[in-house]
Amino acid sequence: MDLATSPASGLKEKMTEHTSVLIIGSGPAGLTAAIYTARAQLNPIVIEGEPSSTTDQPGGQLMLTTDIENYPGFPESITGPELMANFRAQALRFGADLRTTKVQRLDTTTRPFRAWLTGDDEPSISADAVILATGAQSMMLKVPGEDRLLSHGLSTCATCDGFFFRGHDIAVIGGGDSAIEEATFLTRFASSVTIVHRRDSLRASKIMQERAFANEKIRFVWNTQVTEVLGAEKVEGLAVRNLVTGEQSVLNVTGVFIAIGHIPNTTLVTDQVDLEDNGYVRTGLGSYTSIDGLFAAGDVQDHVYRQAITSAGSGCVAAIDAERWLEAQAD
Ligand code: NAP
Repeated sequence: MDLATSPASGLKEKMTEHTSVLIIGSGPAGLTAAIYTARAQLNPIVIEGEPSSTTDQPGGQLMLTTDIENYPGFPESITGPELMANFRAQALRFGADLRTTKVQRLDTTTRPFRAWLTGDDEPSISADAVILATGAQSMMLKVPGEDRLLSHGLSTCATCDGFFFRGHDIAVIGGGDSAIEEATFLTRFASSVTIVHRRDSLRASKIMQERAFANEKIRFVWNTQVTEVLGAEKVEGLAVRNLVTGEQSVLNVTGVFIAIGHIPNTTLVTDQVDLEDNGYVRTGLGSYTSIDGLFAAGDVQDHVYRQAITSAGSGCVAAIDAERWLEAQAD
């Protein structure tokens, strides 16, 4: 935030900075949007977030993964944090202004839009266009051992990490389409996949259920809640409790995938922009939202693909949309 000296008082007073493009988020979508808008000479400001917990830090969900083997261009694989460091370096190289802080409040009801980085009355930044790339986060079980063992045998992304569980006995938690899809996918690698579900029937679509029931590598543990993820440095088992009988037991697994849903990070815009029924930001053509000048990219608007590469692609789309929209405003 800039400070200017007030001639009258001699005191420093805060001023609202103006930018043509404000990008909120620093995952693949936000940083790709930063690279493109910076190269288009739009001088974007990127609010990249700040670490607040092991599962919430600048760089987004890729900061939680180990090796990424399916991001094109890295035939020998690259770690999530390294990939995001590369994105970041590339955005900086073209002059994107990255700030390690969070947007506390965003007002998109009038233009230019206004963003507050502090609790002050005065907004910190005003922006002609905003690209919202705040991502989504996996819902977590909130049981002991979960934080400690994340990325050490416990994962929230089968596509990202399934390959590392060749020959393992693993568990998938959840009963929706994600859990069944992930469990089915994981049978390519694992010796066995145990689906642990808190009820006695699945929420997943019938066709996916049938596929899972027919898969010899998949077994089900019904009416069961995970009470702890066991292991000091890597997953060694799951402590579970049967919700009908109350019986407690341990599942001997060396990998755990949590697939109980995702939550899009929409808090900044919840009452301002149109959301889908499932809470994701509704985008029409490209990255356009229901608010003129507000664009959305990445997982905050995508509940289907959720891949680093699709997220980066949508960041590019948002940058181009914003650039063209700004040009049209200037005409
Ligand atoms: P979901 O449909 O909301 O299912 C979440 C599952 O996790 C439910 O079975 C739920 O149990 C369970 N769960 C939630 N909180 C839990 C907790 N604290 N502890 C234990 N279990 C918990 O989420 P999703 O599977 O991620 O799917 C999200 C959307 O994406 C859905 O609309 C889905 O159809 C769609 N999707 C589609 C596909 C596909 O078509 N290929 C693939 C993936 C996702 P209850 O059943 O008891 O509520």
